[in-house]
Amino acid sequence: MKQLGRALAIQLHSGPRRVQLSIHQRLLETPLDQLLTDARTIRDRQFGSRVTYSPKVFIPLTMLCRDKCGYCTFAQPPARLENPYLSADQVLAIAKQGAKSGCHEALFTLGERPELRYDVAAEWLKANGFDSTVHYLHDMAALVLKETGLLPHANAGALYKDELAMLRSVSPSQGMMIESLRDDLDCHRGAPDKVPQRRLDTLEWAGELKIPFTTGILVGIGETREDRINALEAIATSHARHGHVQEVIVQNFLPKPRTGMQHEAPCPQDEYLWSIAAARIILPPSIHLQAPPNLSDDFGILLDAGIDDWGGVSPITADHVNPERPWPALDKLRVVTEARGKALAPRLTIYPEFAINPTVWVDEALHFPIQDRSDAEGLGRDDPGQVWPEKVTAADVVLDGAEVVLIGHRSTQWYSGANNPPPSLIGSQHDGTPFDEVDVDTLRGPIAEILHGVRLGQRINEAEIVTLFSARGKEVRAIARVADDLRKQVVGDAITWVHNRNINYTNVCTFKCKFCGFSKGPLSLNLRGTPYLLTLDDIANRAREAWDLGATEVTLQGGIHPDFDGDYYIDVTRAVKNAVPEMHVHGFTALEVTEGAKRLGEPLYNYIMRLKEAGLASLPGTAAEILDDDIRAILCPDKINTEEWLECHQVAHEAGLRSNITIMFGSVEHPNSWAKHIVRTRALQAQTGGFTEFVGLPFVHMASPIYLQHKSRRGPTFRETLLMHAIVRIAYHGLIDNIQVSWTKIGPIGAAQLLQAGCNDMGGTLMNENISRAAGASHGQGMTEDAFRAITEPIGRSLLQRDTTYGRPDREPAILSS
Ligand code: SF4
Repeated sequence: MKQLGRALAIQLHSGPRRVQLSIHQRLLETPLDQLLTDARTIRDRQFGSRVTYSPKVFIPLTMLCRDKCGYCTFAQPPARLENPYLSADQVLAIAKQGAKSGCHEALFTLGERPELRYDVAAEWLKANGFDSTVHYLHDMAALVLKETGLLPHANAGALYKDELAMLRSVSPSQGMMIESLRDDLDCHRGAPDKVPQRRLDTLEWAGELKIPFTTGILVGIGETREDRINALEAIATSHARHGHVQEVIVQNFLPKPRTGMQHEAPCPQDEYLWSIAAARIILPPSIHLQAPPNLSDDFGILLDAGIDDWGGVSPITADHVNPERPWPALDKLRVVTEARGKALAPRLTIYPEFAINPTVWVDEALHFPIQDRSDAEGLGRDDPGQVWPEKVTAADVVLDGAEVVLIGHRSTQWYSGANNPPPSLIGSQHDGTPFDEVDVDTLRGPIAEILHGVRLGQRINEAEIVTLFSARGKEVRAIARVADDLRKQVVGDAITWVHNRNINYTNVCTFKCKFCGFSKGPLSLNLRGTPYLLTLDDIANRAREAWDLGATEVTLQGGIHPDFDGDYYIDVTRAVKNAVPEMHVHGFTALEVTEGAKRLGEPLYNYIMRLKEAGLASLPGTAAEILDDDIRAILCPDKINTEEWLECHQVAHEAGLRSNITIMFGSVEHPNSWAKHIVRTRALQAQTGGFTEFVGLPFVHMASPIYLQHKSRRGPTFRETLLMHAIVRIAYHGLIDNIQVSWTKIGPIGAAQLLQAGCNDMGGTLMNENISRAAGASHGQGMTEDAFRAITEPIGRSLLQRDTTYGRPDREPAILSS
């Protein structure tokens, strides 16, 4: 039997009716096993190993409904309800409980237009100032969004276009089941809103309004396989016009007590599996396919039929539509998913394909609330804990550190620079649990294939890097394991550190980097705080103090002061070298160097040689941010571009200076930009060999202007942070040996995990680290050898002091104490 694959599925939508009929026939005639195999193939080709779910809380706004469907236990008569609608306080109380349980979605379920059937509903709405149930739903969704940040999903049934448009401003996605296009089903006799054309009109209007839409079919309510094919084709046809169907739910009928269909047989399992597989084959592959896990005893088989989503899973509320069938616990869902070689990922109510293209698909007012809960792929942030909207006020006392103060509910998820502990992703020895050795060979899917290639010595390309960043669960541990093996092979078990001091000589800057909470000045995004400029004597004194405390390096970085010309950087270098001739001067970003040469009108090579003659020994890799000009246009439009950053480092390498690579990740960009960054810098390293190390700088959002302006995410998740370091270990293998943990942003507990995922260096002691603190980080200001040891000892690794270029320091050991 020839396989029914994607090509045939496409013909189903586009071919002449004669072809369609024959494909219908083949769908109906193909043995179930073959159909399931074809469906899985389509799913795996499109979504790889990923299976999603939405952590959500159910808000049953009203259980009154003007329809009476034969299978429904949700709808209740007024006599059974204390009040026709949940009050605003009740809605908020449920939503807050959801937020505290780590949900991302508030699913509003409700009956359809109860005010048209029950006077009590109409009177309640009127008394509370609403002209319809949909109007009340709009206001409650807005309230939940504002107070909890949970993203509403409005599931209000068959709506008119103006109603869909109204809800679009408060609900990132909406949904309505088509159920069936049969107009003669007994179960729908008392349901005026279940007239097929009403459902199709709603679907169509949602498309015209560019609403990411969830729809689906019910299986086993009296319809035939042909009927299901017709309904799925109608969904596919509407999607072909508008591209708006984000997911299709295939739900099985189960008889419930006290319903019209209580004595009917449940949907047979084979019929259900056939319907799921048929949906996967008929629908465009990009549409996600969902089957609820709580309505099947052995729900793992639903994965065998081609689904890639489990739908909403609530940690706290019952499924109000199927109250007798509670959800499986998340752990069970994960075990079942992973047993089939898949990886589970939480999503938002809006799917990533729509979330990352908000100008088309989302009302402007919702762009930030979505971004605020998103990870880099547009899925839900997956660190455990609560995410509340951040409300800030200006600090009363402004020092060099964070200049805003959080008020209201505190988020408890891990954030770069915050004190919240990270999740244990690799079973770190640091928290006492044994290292979980993942056998890479037991994994399946694209990530497993890439890791297999890495272990055979293959170099990963840009697309493969993007794929690795999609890793979840066991896949993350496998990547960490491979990276850790490479680390051990290349640099052994010692963890290095350098005794250095940061000297941020000025915070006045003419540039307007939108992420920078450090710079002050007339042209910068001025927050609060005091502009300063250290004198050359100040700088020399700080270098002397650092030397006396055992430092071997000073790191010089600062804003681009409007009064500087290029000679300033040469003067600063000389000031340090005159004060402490043995000090390694690690200084000046590619921006400072490029700007210095430009202001003097001097060729870059000449200028760098003059800096070198003055005593400059190496360049930090900062100012790279993300080496993708589309992202730089958002983050730092007036700064050097990708080519200029690379050119500066290339010239520095040619001049005999070493430098490093940094990446600031987790603000507005997606993994494809990370991959570009890694591949571009790797190509330069292959050419010059001048980079000593990679330093990952997770974006610290708290006091960053771009976050305060509601235009960025909250930095990377901890999973993304760990993956960044592990993946670069793999990607740079053979070219760059040292991968550094930025403890100022990651904190000691996170650092311990990264050191078991490919990292081998703790960076510097960084006395007086101001830049991270100015962005809101809590870990800045300084580290000691003892503090480093407190991180490395529990994971059984030795600590070794190094100099800037990874040699042994040629002076007496540090005299720091904790
Ligand atoms: S990141 Fe650097 S160049 Fe950009 S505004 Fe801040 S201090 Fe200035």
